Amino acid sequence: MNKIISNRQKKVFEIVSIVKLICLLFCGIIVFNYFFRDKNIIIMTNNDYLNVIPLGVGTLVIALIYIIWMFFSTEKLKFKNSRLLQITEDLIFILIFSILIVVSEAHESQYKLLFLFIVITSTIQSGIKQGMVVSTISSMTVLGIDLIYGDNTNVNQHFENDLILCSIFILTAWLLGYYVKIEKEYTENLTNLANIDGLTEVYNHRFFHDALKKILEKADKEKSPVSLIFTDIDYFKHYNDLYGHQKGDEVLRTIGFILKSSVRAGDIVARYGGEEFAIILPNTSEKDCLYVAERIRTEVERWEFEGEENQPNGQVTISLGVATFPDKASNEIELVKSSDDALYRAKFFNKNRVETYYSVLEELKKDIEAEHIDLITSIKTLISVINIKDRYTYGHVERVVMFAKLLGNKLGLTEEEMKTLKYGAYLHDIGKINISKDVLNKKMRLTDDEWEMLKQHPANGVDLIKPVESLKQIIPLILHHHERYDGRGYPSGLKGNDISYLTRILTVVDSFDAMTSNRPYSNRKTYEDAIEELRRCSGTQFDSKIAEAFIEVVQENKDKFDNLTLFSEK
Ligand code: GH3
Ligand code: MG
Ligand code: MG
Repeated sequence: MNKIISNRQKKVFEIVSIVKLICLLFCGIIVFNYFFRDKNIIIMTNNDYLNVIPLGVGTLVIALIYIIWMFFSTEKLKFKNSRLLQITEDLIFILIFSILIVVSEAHESQYKLLFLFIVITSTIQSGIKQGMVVSTISSMTVLGIDLIYGDNTNVNQHFENDLILCSIFILTAWLLGYYVKIEKEYTENLTNLANIDGLTEVYNHRFFHDALKKILEKADKEKSPVSLIFTDIDYFKHYNDLYGHQKGDEVLRTIGFILKSSVRAGDIVARYGGEEFAIILPNTSEKDCLYVAERIRTEVERWEFEGEENQPNGQVTISLGVATFPDKASNEIELVKSSDDALYRAKFFNKNRVETYYSVLEELKKDIEAEHIDLITSIKTLISVINIKDRYTYGHVERVVMFAKLLGNKLGLTEEEMKTLKYGAYLHDIGKINISKDVLNKKMRLTDDEWEMLKQHPANGVDLIKPVESLKQIIPLILHHHERYDGRGYPSGLKGNDISYLTRILTVVDSFDAMTSNRPYSNRKTYEDAIEELRRCSGTQFDSKIAEAFIEVVQENKDKFDNLTLFSEK
């Protein structure tokens, strides 16, 4: 839409500029005409030539300067002070016309009408206000010339006649300006309609992206933070199924209203998807944003929606994810991704809550020696590459970290062990970067060669992180997370307690997530089925004590694990 408007502006500018250029050429003709008016000769003397040439050249030079000026018109349109430039340009034209009128026959000049051009062009270009200013200045100039040069001893006939001309100037500016104003308002209304979501009356998805881009560019220059909130209605499918989509739409409308009335005027509320909203909060730190998000959450929770008592949690609620630029994301894509991640974290932890973006790597950074920070950033990039190649791996990694934390707590790991387990869980699949997308996402059985390639990923992962001294302790976790308790795993065929304790923990949570996720080659198991599978493989694939502890974790956190469906579909 912005493109359409600026295109329109450009076209208006072009046509107005052509009119002005023609005016300038008129001026040249007038000067030429005036010069020969009193001369009854057709053939010019040498002396005449000498006088005409500078005038002609002068006119051409002015026209040429204007053409160049026009040529840079697009730049000029972007100029911050374009209004000031416009006024200056109009004043220069008024000055040129005034000189011309004075030079021709002053008060008797028939070229006073020229001012009408500048009144029309400036009104079309800059609207009623500037049109009125230009027409007033033009009128004063015309009347001034009449007063100065005209016969003031008797009735100044020219002055009287020109009063009508000046009224025409002002009337033209007013009429045309009013029309331009109506047209502008109409365009603005249309623009608004194109940017607003018809159902909820907040901004739509396209406007959200345009606005986010602009706001981030500005924030980057001003070094100010921008926060982004993503929200999703909890159990909304359930509500729709119970009461139908029309009632569901009413809930959407109300939530749109609540969001709009909970934020400042400069914040942008948009409908991001079906029942997902996004709010951009310029100049807002994460801390302030969390406060706003929590206020919104309570407001929705308190609101009495029709029939909400039949929702699984007894009310209509929303989950919110918060991320902040530049702390948690360095560009638009990362910011959206981070708030989305935060939202899914909120969903995972029982819904109806606010979560901020958090990545294990941020935590990891604190423990890494300064000289290796760059490496961590590269690892982060590698992980996002894996994400593009194989969305499963990425979501999988975040879930495995979460499960590892729950299981680690259950098993009473020390702080140090916990850290190693978390970092190991985060980086365990990093070696998959070298494996092609086709193999990772293959639906059929892998060929022997492909299987061999896949089996290389633990060793490849170790090669990648080896240079980081402080990650040394996680090498066994990466290398051996596919070993089996009975010794039939890979790459080394380690058995029983030869596999480190933390690695055995990682193997259980890693396998549990693989079972409960949709994979290209197999369908997701329910968590009850996955528990069965853990039991079945206890003592063969898994360390039975660890598997048993994890089954307890799953059962104790049933609510969280119920949401696995949503998590693994990401
Ligand atoms: P969760 O708590 O995990 O978010 O569960 P959920 O049921 O809300 O699931 P999800 O977020 O995937 O919601 C998708 C549902 O949102 C599907 C559809 O019923 C509903 N929905 C999406 N767009 C619209 C819409 O425009 N109008 C209505 N009435 N419902 C919509
Ligand atoms: Mg949703
Ligand atoms: Mg939902």
